[in-house]
Amino acid sequence: MSAAVIDGKAFAAGLRQRVGVAAAAFAAQAGRKAGLAVVLVGEDPASAVYVRAKGKATLEAGMASFEHRLPAATSEAELLALIAQLNADPAVDGILVQLPLPAGIDEQAVIAAIAPDKDVDGFHIDNAGRLAVGQEGFVPCTPLGCLMLLQDALGDLSGKEAVVIGRSNIVGKPMAQLLLNANATVTIAHSRTADLPAVVRRADIVVAAVGRPEMIRGDWLKPGAVVIDVGINRLAPTDDAPKGRLVGDVAYDEAAGVAAAITPVPGGVGPMTIAVLLRNTLVAAYRHAGLQMEGDAL
Ligand code: NAD
Repeated sequence: MSAAVIDGKAFAAGLRQRVGVAAAAFAAQAGRKAGLAVVLVGEDPASAVYVRAKGKATLEAGMASFEHRLPAATSEAELLALIAQLNADPAVDGILVQLPLPAGIDEQAVIAAIAPDKDVDGFHIDNAGRLAVGQEGFVPCTPLGCLMLLQDALGDLSGKEAVVIGRSNIVGKPMAQLLLNANATVTIAHSRTADLPAVVRRADIVVAAVGRPEMIRGDWLKPGAVVIDVGINRLAPTDDAPKGRLVGDVAYDEAAGVAAAITPVPGGVGPMTIAVLLRNTLVAAYRHAGLQMEGDAL
């Protein structure tokens, strides 16, 4: 058996296209574009790449992009002052502060300062609480993207056994809440879980968000499971791959022999994150303008 490949790149392209259509409709109705502000503090090269990609995708979707690049020496008070300014700016519908922040800035204090109705990353405690009690709010982009891929692959998730490996606030926990809200039976596994292979073997749905290259082996999976691999790990350089190969948390070739469907790395979950960020920003814009989005394609 060879698993179907869940093409996150294609799904994300479709979502971005639908967001673009809806963004144009929003601009026509509201008389302004939806706007996303992205804040980068310091010069972390990976973060700079992400911020550039987010800005580019925002413009491509027909939305306004506001990039704020602050030096690494920026104080917490200066960053909080910028966030207060963005909270008050009616052209800004979404605010994303790229993490990690330099040492000396309290990430929790910064996230808490973002107005919850502009928190398109869904990291504010208000939005985390809304997700936990099943109220409408903003959901972190990566797990929401995973849910979209799962619903596309499986349809109704009711009664499915789902195992989420990883309990971070940005992936594992919100992923588990989303699956629970979709009526799956959810287990959260983590670094202290006893006999992880046995836990994973129960699952119809496996979501791996650990950050350990190829940790989940093919023989851990129940035949026919659907596997979502969130991990992005760069292996040591080799002659064939001088920059080092990118792999997920799942041993792909082994898993593809057992699973019914699986996301590749790269090209699976990764492209979904930005697409969902654009979607969340547009939803925020509609709410701010008091307008109703036509259809529910997003
Ligand atoms: P994290 O380090 O915050 O959390 C990792 C989790 O894995 C922890 O909850 C820990 O309990 C669990 N864990 C660690 N070792 C374990 C083990 N041996 N067995 C079982 N569980 C174990 O990481 P994160 O931010 O949740 O990210 C996880 C992975 O997803 C990383 O590879 C990251 O790069 C990737 N990621 C990808 C995207 C994307 O595709 N856009 C977004 C976010 C994160």
